[in-house]
Amino acid sequence: MRHTRKPKLAVWKFASCDGCQLSILNCEDELLSIAGEVEIAYFLEASRAAVRGPYDLSLVEGSITTEHDAARIQQVRRSSKYLVTIGACATAGGIQALRNFKDVREFMSIVYATPEHAEILDKSTPIEHHVPVDFELRGCPINKEQLLDAIGALLHGRRPNTPRHSVCVECKLRGVSCVMVARGIPCLGPVTHAGCGAICPSYGRGCYGCFGPKETPNTASLSASWGRLGVEEGDLVRAFRTFNAYADAFRMESEAHEKD
Ligand code: SF4
Ligand code: SF4
Repeated sequence: MRHTRKPKLAVWKFASCDGCQLSILNCEDELLSIAGEVEIAYFLEASRAAVRGPYDLSLVEGSITTEHDAARIQQVRRSSKYLVTIGACATAGGIQALRNFKDVREFMSIVYATPEHAEILDKSTPIEHHVPVDFELRGCPINKEQLLDAIGALLHGRRPNTPRHSVCVECKLRGVSCVMVARGIPCLGPVTHAGCGAICPSYGRGCYGCFGPKETPNTASLSASWGRLGVEEGDLVRAFRTFNAYADAFRMESEAHEKD
């Protein structure tokens, strides 16, 4: 009798808080179905057992912050047929990329008694700055349904169905009144990637962009709208500098409002 080999799935961690890996574990029931379809070959957050590559699909969490990680991601890429980055750290450098706008050596001299022992790169960078990436899943953390769709899609040779529209569309889909239009609350929803189901506006607060930039975001127009609501330049810089501060669209918009 002929046995067909199950596709091998690997999950890798770089600089991150592990939240996206926890989102995978949080799939619970679906994880059992996935485990029936694929061999979970490498996932240290779930099991110490590790099967050698090559792997059919690698999910990569975290950003590159050390020379060692920069070398390790090359190995991961070489051993993976498909490589999908998961979360704001892997797709945009994460909250740790806030140091990219300052001198990280100065921070280290304040935080650590012996900073010379820490080996660290000056910048925290997304995975796609180092190796080709087949698909990116945004969010801090990622959305469970988008993750399951991406795994199924890539293992069956189709493109994932992840929507690229904004959080505003999600507001409309769930019948949430616009907090900017109705209440004058600044919101990053118009430039932010869908995936959360418009959680924050549904609680009457503005989106703060945890899913990162949507496809072709008009950040300049949004900043002008925020200006008309009375938001000052320094607050615009801070609004675009959170989890996805080093995503190109958010980085450039924050820099446009930064005083020399
Ligand atoms: S509340 Fe925010 S996300 Fe929702 S429609 Fe208004 S601007 Fe868009
Ligand atoms: S910050 Fe924006 S993207 Fe994040 S959960 Fe709130 S509404 Fe969704």
